[in-house]
Amino acid sequence: MPQALTSRFLFGPGPSNCYPEVTAALAHPVIGHLDPVFIERLDNTCEGLRTVWGTQNARTLPLSVTGSGGMEAAFVNTVDDGDVAVIAVNGLFGERMCEVARRCGATVVRVDHEWGTPIDVERVLTAHPRPKVIAAVHAETSTGVLSDVASLGQNKGDALLIVDAVTSIGGLELLADDWGIDVGYAGTQKCLGVPPGLSPFTMSGEAFERRIKDPRSWYLDVGLLGGYVGAASGSGRTYHHTPPVTMIAGLEAGLQRILAEGLDAVQARHRAAGAALQAGIQEMGLELFAAEGHRLPSLTTVKVPDGVDSAAVRRHLLEHFSIEIGSGAGKYTSSVWRIGMMGPNANAASVTLVLGALKEAIS
Ligand code: PLP
Repeated sequence: MPQALTSRFLFGPGPSNCYPEVTAALAHPVIGHLDPVFIERLDNTCEGLRTVWGTQNARTLPLSVTGSGGMEAAFVNTVDDGDVAVIAVNGLFGERMCEVARRCGATVVRVDHEWGTPIDVERVLTAHPRPKVIAAVHAETSTGVLSDVASLGQNKGDALLIVDAVTSIGGLELLADDWGIDVGYAGTQKCLGVPPGLSPFTMSGEAFERRIKDPRSWYLDVGLLGGYVGAASGSGRTYHHTPPVTMIAGLEAGLQRILAEGLDAVQARHRAAGAALQAGIQEMGLELFAAEGHRLPSLTTVKVPDGVDSAAVRRHLLEHFSIEIGSGAGKYTSSVWRIGMMGPNANAASVTLVLGALKEAIS
C-alpha cells in the first residue's frame, strides 16, 4: 500500500492519531498569514491554549517548532551565562533539558532520580540556595511517570519554574497559574490529537519582565514573538515569521474539538483509558514499569517479560494489526514497551484492541 494511504493505530508515545476535525482542517486551502480569517484563527488558538494550559497569560501561543523547540525557547529566554538552573531529571526529557540549558550558558544543577520514579520535590527545592530557574517534566514520556510540579511552584521562592507539559496538555489536569508555572512548553502530537509540528507555549508576565533581553536565539525570542500574536502591549501585531497556517488550522480544530467535549470530560476519558489499560496489562500477568501511584494515564510503560523479543512483538503488532506501540527509552529500549492512550485514542475500544493484539503477539 502506498505510504500516503497507510493508516495506523498510533498507540505509541506519540504522535497519536488525530481528531477527525483536525484532519479535515488540515485540508483547508492555505490562506495568507495576514488574512483576517487567519488572524482570527490564531487568536482563537491562543485563547484555546490558555484554557488547556489553565492560564490567563497574554503570552500564550503556538510556537512554530516541535516540543524540543519549545524547550529551547523556555531556556534561551530565561537563562544566560552563569545563571543557575536546577533541573529535575527522572527520564530522557529531563536529561534533554540539562543539555539545552547548558548550551544556553546556564550552570546546571542536575537532580537525578531513578527512572520510573517521580521527582522528589524536597531534593529539587534544596539543590541550590538561589537558582534563577527550576525545571521539571510534568509527564515523563520516557518512563510513564507523573510528577508533582504544583508543589515545586508553590515553594519555588524567587526562582522561575519551567515545566514540560508535552504529554499532559489537553489530556491531564494542568493548571499553570494555580501551580505557579512561569514558563511552560508542550507539543501538539500527544493528548491534543494534532500532528507534530507546533509547541504550545506560555510565559507569565513576571517571567517576561525577568527574561533575557537579547537572547541568543532570534527566532525564539519571546520579546519579538509577543508582537506576532498581538500580545506586545500597545504595539499591535507585527510580522515576525510566516506562521505554519495549515498547522495552526489543525490546532485550532483540535482545541475546538476538546473544548466542545469539555476539558474535564476529555481528562476523565484519558484517566479511564489509562486505568483500564493498566488493569488489563496486569491481568495478563505483565508488570508495569512506572511507580504505583505516579503512573500517567496517557502513557503506560510495561516491562517486557523475560524471554520475549520486544522488537519482534512490536513488529507483529504493526504487521498484523497496524498498531504502533513504542520501545522503551535509553537503557530500557528493549526491556520496556510504551503504550499511549492519547487524544481520540483515549477510549475503551482502543484499550480492548491493544490488549487483545498484545496478548496474541506475545503468545
Ligand atoms: N518532552 C517530552 C516529555 C516529550 O515526550 C517529547 C517528545 O516526545 C519532547 C519533550 C520533545 O518533543 P518533540 O519530539 O516534539 O520535539
